[in-house]
Amino acid sequence: MKFISSEKIPGFLEALSARSTVWAPRELTGSGGTVMFERWRPGDPIDLEHYSSLSAKDVVLPRTEKLFGYTYAFGGSPFSGGLGASGTAVAASDSDQAPATSGEQIVIKPAEPAPSTVLFGVRACDAKSIQVLDALFNNPGGEGYNDPQYSARREGLTVITLACTTCDDACFCSSFENGASEKAGSDLILYPVDGGFLAEGVTGKGGELLSEPFFEESELAPPPLAETAVIEGLERLQEILPGLFDDLDFWERVSERCVSCGFCTYGCPTCHCFNIHDEMQGDREGERLRSWDACMFALYTQETSGHNPRPTLAHRYRNRINHKFSYYPENQGEILCTGCGRCIRGCPAALDIRDVLRDALKAARKE
Ligand code: SF4
Ligand code: SF4
Repeated sequence: MKFISSEKIPGFLEALSARSTVWAPRELTGSGGTVMFERWRPGDPIDLEHYSSLSAKDVVLPRTEKLFGYTYAFGGSPFSGGLGASGTAVAASDSDQAPATSGEQIVIKPAEPAPSTVLFGVRACDAKSIQVLDALFNNPGGEGYNDPQYSARREGLTVITLACTTCDDACFCSSFENGASEKAGSDLILYPVDGGFLAEGVTGKGGELLSEPFFEESELAPPPLAETAVIEGLERLQEILPGLFDDLDFWERVSERCVSCGFCTYGCPTCHCFNIHDEMQGDREGERLRSWDACMFALYTQETSGHNPRPTLAHRYRNRINHKFSYYPENQGEILCTGCGRCIRGCPAALDIRDVLRDALKAARKE
């Protein structure tokens, strides 16, 4: 393997930042230890010791993003311009489209192109979570849905992962096939060793970085990786959860401590529900925005009529667990959880998703 010393990391990041936007974990100023993924600029400190409070999913799915802008103008055909990532043009004008008002046209302004981005210092669970989201959003030329903006950001993304040699009480990635040795989603993996990091290229993109002068040959052996808590049988939940669907007593019991703060969904690297809304600037132009939503909020799925098919917290928590361990595996072939433990570390009500999963497995055994 190749080796990079700790002293050379800032220079490596600086070289990367000269050609890409770099995101890295940083302690938020004045936060008393909260680490988040932030845009890195030369001279910024990084924190490779602590887990980030929120995941780095903003890099592929920003918490708020402009899908396109629009203006109303007089004259010409009713619709013109383009729509989509990186200026991808979409059908502009058709005579069967009615103008907003007689004589007006709507000019669509595409969102800014996705920048080339390097995500530095994510853990294996978070790198894998990007691949889990790919199953839904990133299917260029494939049969599944392809979100052009997600796909463009993914195309320009390089993921440099920091392998975990330690874990904490909330981690449970070893419940999944590869645990801390997971390579999915990573382009390059750094293994902490004395004085620096061993580096392993996983993809061609990551392997190319190893030819940079910051890296040297090494005979060192990679360190043993962390072994976390394990919940056996998570893959069986896909079969088990439909049988628990109508047991509202179960869902009320497991969610009774929840205060609907939404942290577990905002912090989670795989939660991806979103809202779409328009923001007008004056009455002639505006932007269509996509923003994160959270199934733990009371208004989630509330319809304009006031009807909500998930009227109680128990209904919404049932949706959260089923989405992750039943619907997504069924539709996308992946469990929508990587065992990162964020929802456990950050829950103000100390609700531990692992207890809920164990209870569901136990309830199935009783039947
Ligand atoms: S973090 Fe805890 S309290 Fe907040 S919504 Fe999630 S389960 Fe409920
Ligand atoms: S559900 Fe919890 S443990 Fe699983 S990926 Fe999301 S935040 Fe991490």
